[in-house]
Amino acid sequence: MRLDSMSLLGSWQELNAAATIPHCVDNVERTGAIANFRRLAEAGPDGPQGTFQGPWFADSDVYKTLEAIGWEVGRSGTDRWAGLLSDVADLLERVQTPDGYLNTYVQGTPGKEPFANPEYTHELYCAGHLLQAAVALHRGSGDERFLAVARRVGDLVAGSFGEDGEPVIDGHPEVETALVELYRETGVESYLRAAELQVERRGHRTLALGRFGSQYYQDHLPVREATEAIGHSVRQLYLAAGVTDLYLENGDQTLLNAMEELWDSAFGTKMYVTGGHGSRHRDESYGDPYELPPDRAYAETCASIAALQWCWRMLLATGQARYAEEMERALLNAIAASMDHTGTAFFYSNPLQLRTGHDGSSEDAPSERLPWYGCACCPPNLARLLASLHGYAATSDASGLQLHLLTAGTFSGETLSAVVETGYPWDGDVLVTVSGHGELAVRVPAWAEGATVAVTGAQVLPGPTPGEYLRVSCEDGATVRLTLPMTPRLVRADERVDAVRGCVAVVRGPIVYCVEQADLPDDLLVEQLRLDPTAGITEERAQDDITPVRLRLSGEARPHEATLYTRYDPTSLTGSPVSFTAIPYNAWANRGPGAMRVWLPLA
Ligand SMILES: [Zn+2]
Repeated sequence: MRLDSMSLLGSWQELNAAATIPHCVDNVERTGAIANFRRLAEAGPDGPQGTFQGPWFADSDVYKTLEAIGWEVGRSGTDRWAGLLSDVADLLERVQTPDGYLNTYVQGTPGKEPFANPEYTHELYCAGHLLQAAVALHRGSGDERFLAVARRVGDLVAGSFGEDGEPVIDGHPEVETALVELYRETGVESYLRAAELQVERRGHRTLALGRFGSQYYQDHLPVREATEAIGHSVRQLYLAAGVTDLYLENGDQTLLNAMEELWDSAFGTKMYVTGGHGSRHRDESYGDPYELPPDRAYAETCASIAALQWCWRMLLATGQARYAEEMERALLNAIAASMDHTGTAFFYSNPLQLRTGHDGSSEDAPSERLPWYGCACCPPNLARLLASLHGYAATSDASGLQLHLLTAGTFSGETLSAVVETGYPWDGDVLVTVSGHGELAVRVPAWAEGATVAVTGAQVLPGPTPGEYLRVSCEDGATVRLTLPMTPRLVRADERVDAVRGCVAVVRGPIVYCVEQADLPDDLLVEQLRLDPTAGITEERAQDDITPVRLRLSGEARPHEATLYTRYDPTSLTGSPVSFTAIPYNAWANRGPGAMRVWLPLA
């Protein structure tokens, strides 16, 4: 599978290789995350010099960066990081204890004992990221050194926390999916069993309560009963990905049933229109159903990445288009917005509204993307996702090829290969030329009412139906041209989303739009605008890769009141006519700090 480098997704992969991965490498060095390993590797008889640097899970920043490099080596064949990989492999081999333990925070901090405080130390979380890095490097380049280190970690986990071992789970799920991946890579059954035990042991309130209680780490109910998305959103979503991975290997239908209910809770009552998850800042958690404030949205970048990873596994489990649809929503909106056009500045939280006068001085809710964070989970998570993005675009089996993300590229299956030419997501024309014989399945987005298809050398059976796969029986050389209607549309939220009642979001194809202060005159604030839903929307094409399609909207500007609260008088609620520009939400905050909003009140 290969994305066209001129496509939007393909261009992100090029930017990731050229800028984001090198930026992550520089920053894991600058912040001491690699030095933590070096310090232990070079320790003399008196123990390590200096102190551990960064947050206690800093090892995971290094591992996610290594994973990104692994996928990138597999994608492009680059040897740019060969020296770094060799040096870090050396460090890991030297720091790992004979029993397989490896964690620079616990090993490098006096008084810490392995797995003594699993509710907060993130040891299995970090181990999981090491396993995933090793799998990526092994698949990408055949590297055996990292895999050997990872297998010793896997053996330790499978032994210490196996059938007869301690019933330890980690406060931050992640090792579940990693153990399943290590099993897939090595065929060692004990890793799969260890993943199973991690899943089965969660929800029995064995973790110490900590600041936010057992729901925070989904230890409040066993996974088959915990069908409301709750607690820390990244933990919830990583856990769900791990449970779904387990189902994919062991076929336990009760796990899939629980995941389908959980998915309905997360994506049906707690997701932002941008594909963001988690509305609360305090404990980085999901809120109540329909608690989706746009201005105080937390919507951590890692949560949208985790949501995509879970949806991918649900797609593999069921073949249902709705999972790919939500992967696309997250990818093109929340995830895309989290990185700037240089690939070196990032949002951690992804609000849908920034107010005039916002205090952006804290990294909790900055006005602009920052080059790095004290808690730096998101940037290297983006790097590993982007480096592996081509792997999410399509699947194949004996019957043919399935296209899930509509993007230009070349996709090869067992019986069928396809070249896709399209300017999607900016244009709705998707031309697929196939070689070989078999069934081509192309996802038709749920919003694409009125989509049409034209084929040569192929038979459509039947379609296209929005929200389903168009299935085409193809001869060698067949072409399939899918045309999606890209007319902008207005989207409203369920009445129960109080925070945006009476508002609409403007969406074109899969792309959510926003209005930014940068496009308004100084004497007109974003907060004054109301949208006229009956007025037409005009498209403006721009010679610019970031906002190639801008939208011109009409409505009115309401004056601001003299006092905060005013007697209600419906006759006074009028404004002056105004037209204004909307840009893709994923391109906001690229022109300096300023107000922005996705949800627009109606005139
Ligand atoms: Zn994060």
